Amino acid sequence: MVNYKDLGLVNTREMFKRAVAGGYAIPAFNFNTMEQMQAIVMAAVETKSPVIMQVSKGARNYANATILRYMAEGAVAYAKELGCEHPEIVLHLDHGDSFELCKDCIDMGFSSVMIDGSSLPYEENIALAKKVVDYAHQFDVTVEAELGVLAGVEDEVVAAESHYTKPEEVIDFATRTGCDSLAISIGTSHGAHKFTPEQCTLVNGVLVPPPLAFDVLHEIEKKLPGFPIVLHGSSSVPMDEVNTINQFGGHLEAAIGIPEEQLREASKSAVCKINIDSDSRLAMTAAIRKHLAEHPGDFDPRQYLKPARENMKKMYIHKIVNVLGSDGKLAIK
Ligand SMILES: [Zn+2]
Repeated sequence: MVNYKDLGLVNTREMFKRAVAGGYAIPAFNFNTMEQMQAIVMAAVETKSPVIMQVSKGARNYANATILRYMAEGAVAYAKELGCEHPEIVLHLDHGDSFELCKDCIDMGFSSVMIDGSSLPYEENIALAKKVVDYAHQFDVTVEAELGVLAGVEDEVVAAESHYTKPEEVIDFATRTGCDSLAISIGTSHGAHKFTPEQCTLVNGVLVPPPLAFDVLHEIEKKLPGFPIVLHGSSSVPMDEVNTINQFGGHLEAAIGIPEEQLREASKSAVCKINIDSDSRLAMTAAIRKHLAEHPGDFDPRQYLKPARENMKKMYIHKIVNVLGSDGKLAIK
């Protein structure tokens, strides 16, 4: 049993409180590789931002759970080495699908877990979330639960259709589960293909997806004033990265994300955690494809992973500064 506090990590409680009050959101970036981890830490240190590093079940299968845990511990030490004396780094489990998985993560040093029972019937979702909360809170680990279903594909989470969160359920759900934050469904979606072109309208040659359901969000805020709200599936799928990928041999069709203006607007509300995964994948792949196409003789992974890391770092900094507004928000600078 390892407690996250011994690893220098923090839970989400204080940073969410400040984010809700301050009208900004904390970035939650998924990571699977060392380069992603380094880019996240460099971006957070440079912008003096708190950051959530999250690990999905798929990431645990890919990279190994133990290695990821040590990487998060290393991330704290690395942030300090880069000159940030009091980094605020959360190690969070993204889409935990069972009590056992959540417990396993808590026992090995995670400071926050998500239990996603959103596909279960309402009462079962509550029972599962409460069980995780009761265990997690003994160790001061924070818990995110989900109400409503997001469409799209993320690692092993697949749903064909989305169902908006019902505002009339949130008070009962939050009270009975005791969760610390709530992931809601208001029209965001997992993956790089969030919408079909048919769902979008063409504005100046650009496909614009349907707007997020801000009315549902505001309804939820009214029911649970000041309660931390989380948005999943919030990559913007930048067209320049998609174009670079396609220009250098890739084949991504109709990749469409959430416009950044909408995420900026959501950040100013009770939304205090915004999950971004696909944009990092796109930034990495675009840089690697471009580098290898332009330098066909290169075969040292460092030659193409270095520009990939740079490109991800640039993207993370852009999100922190221009979209979420969490720059300069460390408790102790
Ligand atoms: Zn998600």
